[in-house]
Amino acid sequence: AESVLISQQSHGELCKVLAVNKAAAAHEQKVIVVSVSPQSRASLAARCKLGLLETAQRLTQFLKSLGVHYVFDTTFSRNFSLLESQREFVRRFHRQAEDKKALPMLASACPGWICYAEKTHGSFIIPHISTTKSPQQVMGSLVKGYFAEQQHLPPDRIYHVTVMPCYDKKLEASRPDFFNQEYQTRDVDCVITTGEVLKLLEQEGVSLSDVDPAPLDTMLSGAAEELSSHHGGGSGGFLEHIFTHAAKELFGIHVGSIHYKPLKNKDFQEVTLERDGEVLLQFALAYGFRNIQNLVQKLKRGKCPYDYVEVMACPSGCLNGGGQIKLEGESSKEELQQVERLYESLRAEIPEENQAVRELYEHWLGGWGSQRAQEMLHTQYHAVEKTNSALNIKW
Ligand code: SF4
Repeated sequence: AESVLISQQSHGELCKVLAVNKAAAAHEQKVIVVSVSPQSRASLAARCKLGLLETAQRLTQFLKSLGVHYVFDTTFSRNFSLLESQREFVRRFHRQAEDKKALPMLASACPGWICYAEKTHGSFIIPHISTTKSPQQVMGSLVKGYFAEQQHLPPDRIYHVTVMPCYDKKLEASRPDFFNQEYQTRDVDCVITTGEVLKLLEQEGVSLSDVDPAPLDTMLSGAAEELSSHHGGGSGGFLEHIFTHAAKELFGIHVGSIHYKPLKNKDFQEVTLERDGEVLLQFALAYGFRNIQNLVQKLKRGKCPYDYVEVMACPSGCLNGGGQIKLEGESSKEELQQVERLYESLRAEIPEENQAVRELYEHWLGGWGSQRAQEMLHTQYHAVEKTNSALNIKW
């Protein structure tokens, strides 16, 4: 089933949709939206030897030349994922006395990890996983919800494609939880990897450096036209944002820079908040399957000391995802360092200070913590019975 899904959600599928759309009568045409992840943009920039802004502008032009109408950046939707995760952590922290599974809270943005957790440790792990949607799926809600309303279109008249650093994002987009029953449409219709964007360029005989730059699209008029990122590394910065927010909100402590303490390896690190020798918060990041297994064992033995863990399936996180472009002539370490340098070269924004995000919370979602915000920005998980044959997990 997974291989069928991957062929349905591929650059080949996107090409078919674009061709059908061009030939369709005007009233039947769909609005085609592509949302590009910042990890994919960094990988493309490294490959094409371009700056990030140039890459974004030229990619916008290239996609539009194929028939795409709007190109967005999932850094925007990540603001919502970060803010909701911060608030969810604080709520769980207050709940921990009466709910033993409120903490540790485990990150939810990596579908490789979620899939593994549901299939192998189901009902034991699920209550620990943050209910906040990943940036890809928040983008799905924004595009098929807010943007569709702005365009005066039903959600099924928009075809929404994302460009992501891994194949597992295709599985995430096809979860029944992200399917709109009323309109029979997915929040994200098609996911293509960074490598598939390169294939598209090659197929068209185009080199990104030869494409003219186009202005960037923004979902809200008046939103900044420059690129920005978030603090906290190439997997989204969840640990850092939640840690800083919780330190301030729960203990009135302003955290300046975050000190990571490597444990067994660089993919398992700890961050601790202390006051007068007392540990107030203990966070960790666990990347890669071995570290995840180790974490799960700790949890099962009741020996997990953490309040929050940023769990990611790929060693080194999302910049090293399986869908990223391999650089010619570079060792994988140099390649990753190059992509990381580019990724970190942008101004880091503070989600709380983003005016467009505030506006959407206020006017579209009906305020922080509203029922609509819960529906649009949160999801749920499902334990897979051990007897199910889908237990074959590939890593
Ligand atoms: Fe995808 Fe890997 Fe990032 Fe998980 S860690 S979301 S599998 S790129």
